[in-house]
Amino acid sequence: MLSNRRLFLDFLGKTSEMPMLLEIEKASGIYLYAPDGKRYIDLISGVSVSNTGHCNPEVVDAVKEQADKYMHLMVYGEFIQSPQVKYAAKLASLLPEPLECCYFVNSGSEAVEGSIKLAKKLTRKSKIISFRNSYHGSTLGALSVQGNEKFRNPFRPLVPDIYIADFNNAESLEIIDDHTACVIVEPIQGEAGIIVPVNDFLKKLRQKCDESGALLIFDEIQTGFGRTGTMFALERYGVVPDILVLAKALGGGMPLGAFISSRENMSSLASDPALSHITTFGGHPVCCAAGLASLDVIIGQKLVGSCAFKSDLFRKLLVHPLITEIRGEGLMLAVQLASPRHVSYAVANAPSFGLILDYFLFCDSAFRIAPPLIISGEEISIACRQILDLLDDTMANTRKE
Ligand code: PLP
Repeated sequence: MLSNRRLFLDFLGKTSEMPMLLEIEKASGIYLYAPDGKRYIDLISGVSVSNTGHCNPEVVDAVKEQADKYMHLMVYGEFIQSPQVKYAAKLASLLPEPLECCYFVNSGSEAVEGSIKLAKKLTRKSKIISFRNSYHGSTLGALSVQGNEKFRNPFRPLVPDIYIADFNNAESLEIIDDHTACVIVEPIQGEAGIIVPVNDFLKKLRQKCDESGALLIFDEIQTGFGRTGTMFALERYGVVPDILVLAKALGGGMPLGAFISSRENMSSLASDPALSHITTFGGHPVCCAAGLASLDVIIGQKLVGSCAFKSDLFRKLLVHPLITEIRGEGLMLAVQLASPRHVSYAVANAPSFGLILDYFLFCDSAFRIAPPLIISGEEISIACRQILDLLDDTMANTRKE
């Protein structure tokens, strides 16, 4: 019989020529387990998804309970499905006005597409602004607003009338004018290597959008659900966007995306023409039940409040000659090393040290740390010890290159 590794290599479409190729049999809390029983500390949460840990019992119960009642019934937007409406109302109760009306979809990319379509329909304008080294997803519209040429170029022609400004550069906001439909921004840039906004950049952006009539879209797909030490990053920066985009941790480990705006704005997708955005599986009841249960865990276990202490602990314990900087907020961190070859070695060899680490798409000189928010202080100490051992090994084995 062919091994699963062989089946993976022969029958699955690949995303790169060097996949991690780790086989995982089960997962629990912050740990992933290989079939041979080897245990790994997950320091990336499936890229900012598993905020309440893997197979959180409350989330698993909610999934089972909902699957027993019903799964897919009808395309999104027709039937009243209890997990969907309860989750939408809960999100509205946590968000500032006017972010009250939630359109559920399947993924982050689809939520980005929906947000851009909404902005275009509301403004009847076509010009869109995004930021250098931003990542908003891989579908054609989301790719069109991605701020990195290497990834966009092979797929031209893209959606037209898109311009890339510089994050944290107030002067580059001059490109926003009264032809602009929307500006899409990650409040903290993730794949750029965790770049936090400085000098009131997001407030200046809000002001510029208000002056020009452009809608402001916050992509909180990575930053949402407590990751940065507030439930949503918009609270941290005191800026309310016109449209908020969520995914990743939104589904508590199940696939779910959403874009959220005012009731009035959102009504524009329902007429002229009706069905302006439609999705078969968006807001799947099992995914909404999982997401709502996960959000209840985040609130009930006060995971958002504990983020600052956990972040400080990582920063205090991760002292090593190869580390030149630790950037980020809460448990959305980038560990900057002396050179990209150190990062390549460390990430590739992390599993041998019982760790799962990851690269950033647009920053080859740092690796990410974004563990499940349930990680304890003791687990952070153990993880940091293992990271330091890994970095010792990295230093020893990359010196001679
Ligand atoms: N936006 C941001 C900030 C992301 O980090 C991602 C995924 O990494 C996306 C959008 C796309 O989400 P998805 O992979 O669910 O389509």
